[in-house]
Amino acid sequence: MREFRIAQPGTVEELAALLAETKESFALMAGATDLVDMLKSGVASPDLVVDLQGVEGLAGIAPAKGGLRIGPLARVAALAADPAVGRDFPILKEAALSLATPQLRNVGTVGGNLCQRPRCWYFRDPEVACRKKGGMRCFAMHGRNKYHAVLGGGGCFIVYPSDLAPALISLGATVTVASARGEKSLPLEDFYRLPSVDVTRETVLGRDEFLKDVFVPAPKPGQKAAYVKLKERGTWDFAVASAAVSGVIKGGVASEIAVVAGGIAPVPWRMKAAEALLRGRPVTEALAAQAGAAALKEASPLAENAYKLDLAAAAVKRAVLALL
Ligand SMILES: Cc1cc2nc3c(=O)[nH]c(=O)nc-3n(C[C@H](O)[C@H](O)[C@H](O)COP(=O)(O)OP(=O)(O)OC[C@H]3O[C@@H](n4cnc5c(N)ncnc54)[C@H](O)[C@@H]3O)c2cc1C
Repeated sequence: MREFRIAQPGTVEELAALLAETKESFALMAGATDLVDMLKSGVASPDLVVDLQGVEGLAGIAPAKGGLRIGPLARVAALAADPAVGRDFPILKEAALSLATPQLRNVGTVGGNLCQRPRCWYFRDPEVACRKKGGMRCFAMHGRNKYHAVLGGGGCFIVYPSDLAPALISLGATVTVASARGEKSLPLEDFYRLPSVDVTRETVLGRDEFLKDVFVPAPKPGQKAAYVKLKERGTWDFAVASAAVSGVIKGGVASEIAVVAGGIAPVPWRMKAAEALLRGRPVTEALAAQAGAAALKEASPLAENAYKLDLAAAAVKRAVLALL
């Protein structure tokens, strides 16, 4: 592992000033479960690691006006165990408990989960100069692509690996992005960006910015939500396809419905065609299946991953039916 210096800011202001002023290459570190892998393999080789753990005010899960505030340093295990989360947002508890292992959930943070780097084996291989690392080619496009994107690829076929992101987006979560220049709030859905915008980054975070807050609006009367994660192994694994569905259900009819898929695109994928089909209609098995199929209509699988189409459609169908 290449040597690096470490900085340990104590406040959000110190952190923002440090990121604004430093000329060195740097990486933010929360629980380190993803970053340390990247440092050890050499895929990340910053001069400076900025340890967020001592930054006051970035941890904790607490009621806030109109909803729940989740600090980016809140551990995934704490999210799963939080009584307000269990009561108001069981989908978040489910998504949190579906990810990684108990050990990783005890150490990994919500912010780190939302900002983790993709698992594409070409990206994670220090010997491979793929497009995401500034090279000229996406090796997955014509190479081994079983776990890669069937939607939103084009130039780079990573899938976004977070289980929390689809669940949070389906609930209408927003995030606060901070820097020395100030703060801005945006829907979590808009926090992610496609490779066609900037192939080297998965989020809108600029060099001097960090994730400061996650906010989940209070549930509406009749709101229900479900997360279905399909993976290759029975034990811990990333999703090969997942679906988070949230909606207000009255008399078996869905309104304000959000359908978000994971594991099939470089960003958590909002399935607007499925939402349009479901909105205002009584939820039936046939309609749920139709929604799943509609959601994948635009997909263009690679040589080894067409199997994801049926899986993703099934995940949507199952998550929709779980709302009843
Ligand atoms: C074996 C294994 C299995 C896993 N399985 C799953 C799974 O099934 N589902 C799933 O969703 N995840 C899975 N993960 C990923 C795991 O959830 C993440 O590694 C973890 O949540 C990252 O949190 P962390 O605090 O350790 O982040 P770190 O490793 O510290 O950081 C991760 C990334 O986020 C950035 N970052 C962290 N905090 C901030 C912030 N506040 N602002 C801006 N950038 C920030 C860092 O710079 C870094 O690039 C798995 C990981 C491993 C190692």
